[in-house]
Order: sequence, then C-alpha cells, then structure tokens
Amino acid sequence: MPAHRVLRAALPLALAACAAACATRPPPAVPAHRDPGRCGSEPVFAAGGDRATLWVRNSPEYRAASETIYRAALEALAAGLADPAWTAEPTQSGASLALPPAVVMDVDQTVLDNSAPQAEMLLKGLCFDAFPRAWDEWLARRAAPAVPGAAAFIRAARLMSDSAGRPVRIFFITNRECAPRAGNASACPQQDDTMANLEALGLGSGTLADDLMLRGERPDWGAEKLPRRAAVAQGYRIVLNVGDDLADFLPGVRGASVAERDAARCARADYWGRQWFLLPNPMYGSWLVALGSDLDAALAAPLKVLADCPRG
Ligand SMILES: [Mg+2]
Repeated sequence: MPAHRVLRAALPLALAACAAACATRPPPAVPAHRDPGRCGSEPVFAAGGDRATLWVRNSPEYRAASETIYRAALEALAAGLADPAWTAEPTQSGASLALPPAVVMDVDQTVLDNSAPQAEMLLKGLCFDAFPRAWDEWLARRAAPAVPGAAAFIRAARLMSDSAGRPVRIFFITNRECAPRAGNASACPQQDDTMANLEALGLGSGTLADDLMLRGERPDWGAEKLPRRAAVAQGYRIVLNVGDDLADFLPGVRGASVAERDAARCARADYWGRQWFLLPNPMYGSWLVALGSDLDAALAAPLKVLADCPRG
C-alpha cells in the first residue's frame, strides 16, 4: 500500500486514541518563574534572567568571549611581570612594588561557573528569601565547572615568574560567605567546599587555604573587597586583577547608582584591559542591584553607559 494510503488509514485510529488520552491530560502548568503571585510583593530571585542564563549555558559566544579575555589577561600578566612599576592595585606604590608577584581573582563567574543553580532557581521560581539556603546547598555540592579559559589561565600563570625569578601566586578573593551550616562542625564549611571544588578542577595548591579569602573569614573582611586586596598588597605586588563585577576592582560601587558606578569605571579607565580584566556576567551582579526592582522602568530609561570616558 502506498505510504499516503497507510497514513490515511491510520489517522482515524490516531485521532480516536488522542481523544481518549488528550481529554484527561491536565493543562500545561505555568512555569514557576512566570507565576506573578508566587512571591507576594517580593520579586522572584533571578526574575528576567532567562536569556542571560541561556547565553552563559548554551552559547559559543560566551565561551569565546571568556577565552578571549583570559588569553589577553595572560599576555598582560607577562607584560606586567616584566615591568617593575606595574601594579593592578591603585593603592599600591613605592617599596611594595618590589614585592613578589601575585594575581587577584574573584571566584564566582570568574573561576567557577554558577549558571546551574541560576537555571534551577529560575525554573523553581525561588523567592529572594529562599536564595541563601539554595546557594549554600549549591556550594556544598562542590560541583561548579570552571569558567571557560579560567583553568588554563591559572595553570599558566602559576608557571610564570617575575624578573627576579619569583613565581606568581594566585589569591582568590570571594564573597562566598563563611556561615554555620547545620550538621557541619567546620567554622567555615564554604571554604572547605570551595577548596574541594577548585581542587577537583585541578586548581589546588599547597597554599590554597591561605590563598582563598572568603567574606567573613576575618572580622574586617566584609562584602567590600578592598581590605582583602590591601592584605594581599602588604606581601605581594598585585600584577593583575580578574573579576566579573565592578566591585571586584573598585571600592564603593556596591549600592551606588548607575551614574556613580559608571563614573568609577571611567576614573580608572586606563586599567581595563591592562591590569584589570572583567568577565561578562549578564545573570547577576551589582550592576543589576543598581537598576532597582522595577526592571521595566529600567528598560524604558534612556541608554546610560555608552558615553566614552572623558580624557583626563
Ligand atoms: Mg563574581
């Protein structure tokens, strides 16, 4: 029998089967992150993050951008190591430029990719108050993959040395926060988790416990990262800084307005792409906090950050 006749004969049977099965099938559920009443007056955590998260998780463009930045960072590191006046920390000068070399790196969306919990939170429609627990559960999984290019950069950087033959040491300054965890006796389970995650990626070192600096690990180590960079700068010349948030580089930009943040960016215009390398993170960050909770109003606002920095 010709194919079209087979199809024509089978169609009534298929329709009858569907009439029975399809009538009892429940209507498709509204995805949790699209349920507007889910969190009451609180916004859904990661609301509006669908495309950003898809871009990080699925696009070769993200991978290429990240690898581009890390390749350029490695070249800049070589240049900085050869230049004794070079530092990535504006507060560092004088005799401290003769110290052994170091690189400062943020962890999340700089070295470790957290797009997986971002996707999970989106699909579950988690509200803000549920975020801390979901985040801590993610850290405890110790399962973050490396950001594209990060592992190769770290391994290569650790093999490099300054003109005096002193090797580069990498410090990780992260706002992963030390916090007690039920059933865990450690004072900072998040440090154990982050070290284990980095070691599983082949990024451990004999000094990793000291090189990894968490928020709250010491009393003066708050969300603002400058005190931790200052602590590194007491013993090392910081040749390069790598992060994904303006606050990884600049003090006082967390909680500032978009205009203030952009002025801060311009105030250090010469550092970008030389001593400072910023990875793209469209999913979250202090850039998003600065927009406030009304993202529709932010979308409707005039374009704010396209202006060139004034030449000083
Ligand atoms: Mg980060």
